[in-house]
Amino acid sequence: MSIKFVETKNLKAKPDVSKIGFGTHFTDYMFVMDYDAAQGWHDARIVPHEKILLDPANATLHYGQAIFDGLKAYRNRGKAVVFRATDHLKRLNVSAKILDIPEIPFDIMHEGLMKLIDIEKDWIPTEKGQSLYIRPFVFATDEVLGVSVSKNYKFIIILSPVAAYYAHGFSPVKIMVEDKYVRAVRGGLGAAKTPANYAASLHAGLAAHEIGFDQVLWLDGVERKYIEEVGSMNILFKIAGEIVSPSPQIQTSILDGITRRTVNQVAKAWGVPVVERRISIDEVIAAHEDGRLEEVFGSGTAAVISPVGVLRYKGKDYVIGDGKTGAFAQKMYDYIEGLHIGEVEDTFGFVEVAGEF
Ligand SMILES: *Cc1c(COP(=O)(O)O)cnc(C)c1O
Repeated sequence: MSIKFVETKNLKAKPDVSKIGFGTHFTDYMFVMDYDAAQGWHDARIVPHEKILLDPANATLHYGQAIFDGLKAYRNRGKAVVFRATDHLKRLNVSAKILDIPEIPFDIMHEGLMKLIDIEKDWIPTEKGQSLYIRPFVFATDEVLGVSVSKNYKFIIILSPVAAYYAHGFSPVKIMVEDKYVRAVRGGLGAAKTPANYAASLHAGLAAHEIGFDQVLWLDGVERKYIEEVGSMNILFKIAGEIVSPSPQIQTSILDGITRRTVNQVAKAWGVPVVERRISIDEVIAAHEDGRLEEVFGSGTAAVISPVGVLRYKGKDYVIGDGKTGAFAQKMYDYIEGLHIGEVEDTFGFVEVAGEF
């Protein structure tokens, strides 16, 4: 399949990225591909970023058969690179499988992404910590109100320059351990990056905000005992020198985060012991009480690493490491940021080149 390029002369002015936050501005072009039963995935094209027209009966608007992913492009020693593009696009197909969306041919979406980034590389911001956020997504396009797996889909990749998450250095977040609401349960959609999981988390997130917390930490939906994740981030603990995180292989209601994989791979390369296993909230509290809980931090593409300063559980606040960023989290953040921009040599093969400046 060849990728058509529909050029426009009508290019946008680039914004001051330091002032635009996350996901508010979009580049000139997007990648689009369609699916129908007769042709499969077809008509791959790069076209101007523009509004799309949907019938009010569009199946996604009513029943939510949709998936997405999120990854980033950086300027890396004169090249435009995408961090772990292959892993993110493979995960999109994992999500597709869970939602019964037809598998997207890997080669065409990878080529489409790389070509789009090459065309749009001047949109990659220049300051440290800034990046070009990449949002691939797929949604059902049947126009029928009956509940069924859609026969038609659209795949789109849009790009958004984003400001540095920590413009003024790390500030540890306050997290509330959620023991009332649940995000996902085993057998459900938790392992997919799908809008439904976010819809399920909005109310609890708002309730936590209202009492001064940044995010909620989800426990498993069945026993309300085992740590799952933060909802847009995975969570990791440093306990007596060891990096412990919930295992998406064991707990199938967790998203298998790629930043979490990066953290664990880098930690192993440093010789730090890493374990992925079930960990209960009681174990975390006990480790805090006897002084073995050294650090807690989230991992995700948006913030990369997000140190946790306070955990609230059943009305009690547990302050982690005096509420300050831990040395391990800081070192990991600096290292991963170094990999993104080429200040650290990529011995892992995470960096994929899309173009040159
Ligand atoms: C995207 C996401 C994460 C983080 O995954 P990364 O691949 O590290 O960006 C964690 N949890 C949920 C629910 C997510 O949607």
